[in-house]
Amino acid sequence: MTERLEGKPVAEAIDHATRAAIASRKMGEAPPTLVSVHRDVESPFRFYLRRQEKAAARLGIRFLPQSISAADGPAALLRTVAELNRDPGVHAVLLEHPLPAPYDFLEAVSGLRPEKDVDGVGPLNLGRLVSQRPVHVPPVAQAAVDLALHYQLPIEGEPVAVVGRSETVGLPLALLLLSRAAGRNATVTIAHSRTRDLKSALKQCRTIFSCAGRPGLLNRGLVPEGCAIVDVGLSSVPDPGRPGGSRAVGDADPVSLDGWASALTPVPGGVGPVTVAELMASTVRAWELLRRSGAGE
Ligand code: NAP
Repeated sequence: MTERLEGKPVAEAIDHATRAAIASRKMGEAPPTLVSVHRDVESPFRFYLRRQEKAAARLGIRFLPQSISAADGPAALLRTVAELNRDPGVHAVLLEHPLPAPYDFLEAVSGLRPEKDVDGVGPLNLGRLVSQRPVHVPPVAQAAVDLALHYQLPIEGEPVAVVGRSETVGLPLALLLLSRAAGRNATVTIAHSRTRDLKSALKQCRTIFSCAGRPGLLNRGLVPEGCAIVDVGLSSVPDPGRPGGSRAVGDADPVSLDGWASALTPVPGGVGPVTVAELMASTVRAWELLRRSGAGE
C-alpha cells in the first residue's frame, strides 16, 4: 500500500504560524505586502499567480500583481526592481521565472534587495544557503523538505536523491537536505539529464525528490521498492476530458508506483499548496525583517 502524502495539513500548519505573525501588526501599520512581477502574456506563471492571490487574501497579506509589458522589455524590468527596492510599503517581491530572452532573470534578481527576495533565488540568498544562514529559501525547496519532515520520511543520515539541479529548485533543495539542521543531514545524490544511469544512482535511496518536470519519469522500473517519493515536478499534459483540455501531473507515475513506493505526494495537492504557504510565510518574514531594520512601513 502506497501512502498518499497530502500537502494540505502541512500548508495549514504553516498558514497558522503566518496568521499568528500577522496578528502582531500594530494599529496603523502597513500589512505585509507582496508584489508579484510578471509578463503581460499567458504563461504557466499565471496559474501560480492566481494561487498567490487567493492565499494572500485568505491570510491578510496585501498582494499586488505588477505586469511588465513585452513592448517595454528588460529595461522596464530593471526599473521596476529598483522602484520596488526603494518603496518602504513593499516588503516582498517575486519575479516571474523562467524568463525568455532578451530578459536576463539573473541580472534582474541580482538587483533585488535580499530581504525582499522572498523567492530566495538571488545570488546573496543562494550564497547564504550554501553557508547555512539563509534569509529566504526558495519556497518550493522549503516546501519539499517540510512535507518530508511532516511525514517523517527517511532523511536524517539516509541516502536520498534529488532529481534535477536547477538553481531555483533542485540545487537549493539538495543544499537544504544536506544542511546540518535537525532532521536533515541527508546523504544526497543529485541526478540530472546527463546522469548516465539514473536507476543505479537511485538504487540505495530511501527518499527521492523529483524536480525534473518530466511526466512519468519515476516508475517502478526506475526507483527502488519501498522508497518514498516527494514529487516536485509539475507539468501540463493534454486531457480532452478536462475543462481547458489539459491536466497537471508530476514526474511520478502514480499507477505504476502504487504498491511499490512506500509513500508518494500527489500532483496536484502535494508540494504545490505547501509552496504557496511557504511563499506567504517568507513574505511575513520579510515584513518583520524590514520592520526591525526600520526600512519598512
Ligand atoms: P528546469 O529548470 O527545467 O530543471 C529541470 C531539471 O531536471 C534540470 O536540472 C534537468 O537536468 C533535470 N532533468 C530533466 N530531465 C531529466 C531526466 N530525464 N532525468 C534526470 N534529470 C532530468 O525546471 P525547474 O524550474 O527546476 O522545475 C522543475 C520542476 O519543478 C518543473 O516541473 C516545475 O514545474 C516544478 N515546480 C513545481 C513547483 C511547485 O510548487 N510544485 C514550483 C516550482 C517548480 P539538466 O540540468 O541536465 O538540464
